[in-house]
Amino acid sequence: MKEARGISVLNRIAIGRIHYYHPSKREVDESPAEDVEAELKGFEDARQKAIDEQNGLYEKALREAGEEEAAVFEVHAMMLEDDDLIGDINRYIREGKRAAYAVDMACKEQAQVFSEMDDSYMRERAADILDIGRSVIDIILGLKGSELQGAEASILMAEDLAPSETVKLKKELLLGFVTKEGSGNSHTAILARSMGIPALVQCGEVDPEWDGHLAIIDGYNGCLYLDPEEGQLAEFKARQAEEERKRKELDAYKGVESITKSGRRVQVYANIGSPKDLDAVLQNDAEGIGLFRSEFLYLNRDDYPDEETQYLAYREVLKALYPREVIIRTCDIGADKTVDYMGLDKEENPALGFRAIRISLSRRDFFKTQLRALLRASIYGRLGIMFPMIISLKELLSCKELLRECEEELRLKGAEISDSIEVGTMIETPAAVLIADELAEHCDFFSIGTNDLTQYTCAVDRQNAALDDFLDIHHPAVLKEIRMTVEAGHRHSCRVGICGELGADLSLIGQFIDWGVDELSVSPVKVLPIRKAICNHG
Ligand code: PEP
Ligand code: MG
Repeated sequence: MKEARGISVLNRIAIGRIHYYHPSKREVDESPAEDVEAELKGFEDARQKAIDEQNGLYEKALREAGEEEAAVFEVHAMMLEDDDLIGDINRYIREGKRAAYAVDMACKEQAQVFSEMDDSYMRERAADILDIGRSVIDIILGLKGSELQGAEASILMAEDLAPSETVKLKKELLLGFVTKEGSGNSHTAILARSMGIPALVQCGEVDPEWDGHLAIIDGYNGCLYLDPEEGQLAEFKARQAEEERKRKELDAYKGVESITKSGRRVQVYANIGSPKDLDAVLQNDAEGIGLFRSEFLYLNRDDYPDEETQYLAYREVLKALYPREVIIRTCDIGADKTVDYMGLDKEENPALGFRAIRISLSRRDFFKTQLRALLRASIYGRLGIMFPMIISLKELLSCKELLRECEEELRLKGAEISDSIEVGTMIETPAAVLIADELAEHCDFFSIGTNDLTQYTCAVDRQNAALDDFLDIHHPAVLKEIRMTVEAGHRHSCRVGICGELGADLSLIGQFIDWGVDELSVSPVKVLPIRKAICNHG
């Protein structure tokens, strides 16, 4: 048995024999063109053919993977109509390059430009431009791709797979795939995910010698097991069968509205810590993001993330979720989440200390940098801004005042800002529960942070495992506070959600629905189980 590691694009198991794919050798002739006119015509014919090919792939992807996933081939066809790209290629040919070489040069140059962009979505497009370049070159050179798949269903292994190759794959012959290159955000990975294919990318050890060997892809751990032992094989087969049963049951809830049998709608949102979690959010069909813990952008660094870094992260999430809502919580640093560069003093009681909104309101420049980044990103989606650890109306009003100040400053500079940003607060202190009526008058939404609310209500440090025996996660006081908060919010037309761990507690869902909770924000993998519970509630 041998083990290799990669980045998993789907939490699933595949078991089967490996089919190793060797792409056709594409050698581009760099010698000068003999007949420039013939090369120009050769390129133009190939370009038209490639557009037809991409349109065909679009139709196939639309049938098998859906509209969002098929869009890449529409983009490819558009790239092939791009005047700048066509102009560069024709210019190279007129300068004496052969058509295939001219395409190769121009596409590589454009790919370089994409790969240097700040936006990770745009950076990923470098692979697309190289992909269309390869398809045009193959047409010019009359190359046919070698057999991607064998006659029997297998695990495909390759150095790399282009999106156009991925979509050509016959699903019935594909158990999973493993590539040496690729990224978790590439279109190949996105397509694999939406087609439900377990896959590992960046698996450094792929080896042509493994062709025909039995293997297991463990998508939960990003592992490939080659030539598994009998016991291991039996264990994974059993896990796969159980996984399949559960998945089928939950998949039925994708694309379904979270509505109880009696017709009450409860939104199921997801909690994230960074744009890296977006795939999981989309994969699990969350109806929005109810808590983006922005402090994760501040952790594991030597210095503050600047306005631009934050703006790009917020923009990426807003764009990816649009038209769904994204609630971004301002920095909740302190207590268990600390960073050296902020120079925070050591405290006797950090959980009761200088943290979250207390830091933001004391270090206004720090706070305003984040607010500016949020406001600038707001035009890319449906943004909700949420403040953590609020204990007084004064704090909430100061936050809103600073937000207004930032907005005015930005507008004076000509920045575009959405006029439909919603503002809300976390309810995670008993003080906030008790003044929820006053807070609600100034909020579009509340989100109940049951993790801290339980800690502060029960005076049980959430970080101290030795206190586990004293912690009743269903403490009646906390449940009562949730109910009070919902009632207070609704008295003032303020939506109320739960984003703490209790929101994902299946044993409480019924109560939450009956109390009128409007939204539950949970970790992405919990979205479908929660939706199932809502849909089955009377
Ligand atoms: C909470 O306190 O319930 C919450 C969601 O915030 P965090 O867990 O990030 O403190
Ligand atoms: Mg909290």
